[in-house]
Amino acid sequence: MIALRDVTKVYQGGVTALDGVSLDIETGELVAIVGPSGSGKSTMLNVLGTLDRPTSGTVRIAGHDVGTLPDGRLSALRAHLIGFVFQQFHLAAGTPALDNVADGLLYTGMRAAERRRRAVAALERVGLGHRLDHEPHELSGGEKQRVAIARAVAGDPRLLLADEPTGALDSVSGAGVMALLRDLNAAGTTVVVITHDREIAASLPRQVRMRDGLIVDDTGALVPVGADHDGH
Ligand code: ADP
Ligand code: MG
Repeated sequence: MIALRDVTKVYQGGVTALDGVSLDIETGELVAIVGPSGSGKSTMLNVLGTLDRPTSGTVRIAGHDVGTLPDGRLSALRAHLIGFVFQQFHLAAGTPALDNVADGLLYTGMRAAERRRRAVAALERVGLGHRLDHEPHELSGGEKQRVAIARAVAGDPRLLLADEPTGALDSVSGAGVMALLRDLNAAGTTVVVITHDREIAASLPRQVRMRDGLIVDDTGALVPVGADHDGH
């Protein structure tokens, strides 16, 4: 699903946020990316999600070499393949949950009735079938994140990327959101979650640990990080 090779990202101003990172994630995996603040996690997610282009190195997503695609093709690929969830929900204020989710499907060219039907189904899937008309300010933090997840998955993306999805939630709501991400993964979606919560990270099948723009540990790597190709 994802193959990064020797990816670097140097921001304007000279910060090296990714320092030659290689990473493979297979279809169907559920992966935690962990590490201290500033270690490059969000930069990695933005590069994985094709929201940002690396300074050097190659990024392949579902077989597409992202670096060779013009912006228009890249946006289309992203819209059809990838769902995003962020710490701060990014819901439209004053807009009912149903429309927040349905509007995420505008890019598809579906008719309004079909967008609504899919939005209802996605909200039911996240346990919010009884909150369709609620606006963000009428929802708890956990419910807002569920709406954001419904919006991310309404178009049936193969890959779901979440940047600190529980970072703004109490532990009970956070556990609910994680349970939902697990369910989506069990149903076939590849899921990558950034978290600095050690318990959450430890509960996921694979952990990729970052520091200073490098992967310093990867419990799922075929060859241990830092080893040469003979495994030493
Ligand atoms: P994390 O998500 O692990 O906290 P980030 O990927 O957000 O780390 O940031 C990695 C490094 O890149 C940090 O030193 C940060 O200050 C820097 N950085 C992030 N975004 C930008 C940007 N848009 N411009 C310049 N520097 C940035
Ligand atoms: Mg971050």
